[in-house]
Amino acid sequence: MVQIIDGKVIAARVMETIAAQVAALSVPPTLAVILVGDDPASHVYVANKIKACGKTGIVSVEKRLPADSSLEDVAAVIMTLNRDPAVHGILLQLPLPLHLDSDPLIQMIAPEKDVDGLTIPNIGKLVAGMDGMVPCTPQGSLMLIKSVMPTLTGKRAVVIGRSLLFGKPMAQLLLAENATVTIAHSRTADLPAVCREADILVAAVGRPKMVKADWVKHGAVVIDVGINRLDTGKICGDVDFEAVAAVAGAITPVPGGVGPMTIACLMLNTLKAYCIEKSFA
Ligand code: NAP
Repeated sequence: MVQIIDGKVIAARVMETIAAQVAALSVPPTLAVILVGDDPASHVYVANKIKACGKTGIVSVEKRLPADSSLEDVAAVIMTLNRDPAVHGILLQLPLPLHLDSDPLIQMIAPEKDVDGLTIPNIGKLVAGMDGMVPCTPQGSLMLIKSVMPTLTGKRAVVIGRSLLFGKPMAQLLLAENATVTIAHSRTADLPAVCREADILVAAVGRPKMVKADWVKHGAVVIDVGINRLDTGKICGDVDFEAVAAVAGAITPVPGGVGPMTIACLMLNTLKAYCIEKSFA
């Protein structure tokens, strides 16, 4: 019988622990969220992040900029937040409007306030096995995997997708847990055969229901990171959930799997940024 990994329940537990830790602090951590433009999905994501701050006792500051903001406008906001000792975490909501290159702006964020873990120093620390800010979605996905498979040593893991936001850090986290890791991508030959090797299969592609039942080893743990909106308006993942659930040992649903963990780990990273700042204060 397949186990459905309930991200909402696990994320709620993480949030409760954070709330208890924040309640014990004399001054709460502060997260600043920069939102540029009018992308409706980004507005929903930011609203959810601010709601999560409220639930955990973390103070949120929202910096909204118009869609026609220049690179210099956004950079000025980041620099001000970098210098503000009352701000512990900075999140630049992606994607930015098309005329803005997100890379130089992300790299401007002070690494110790980079709660998305996307600056080069934090990526370097992850690769080097040092303690730093770990991107939220892979961090949350690892928690979901470990909720059903506490020891990953010797397991075969396949991550489909090699983005800096997810695929590469996910692979690093699995490697650090002593799994044997394959990163697959759009040029991988015979992807179904590669996936069939996996004890842990993580899909982060952005293609609805791409992973089929005959790609999955019997009893595998399947983590579906994809968020795809169908013509019907319904959200679905990268995994053909009903068919794969008949083969897998454990599987995350979409929605209600990885998504809530991303937000919980953002709160965790904000608390971590606060603790780092206090330890140097
Ligand atoms: P991305 O930057 O577009 O990367 C997609 C990856 O999928 C690329 O590495 C690409 O390979 C690979 N790919 C594309 N078509 C493929 C195919 N036919 N076969 C095998 N690999 C293929 O996307 P991302 O930012 O990593 O996000 C991936 C998905 O996760 C999206 O649906 C996104 O919305 C979702 N997501 C969810 C959360 C959450 O909180 N739940 C957070 C982040 C992302 P190449 O490199 O060769 O092009």
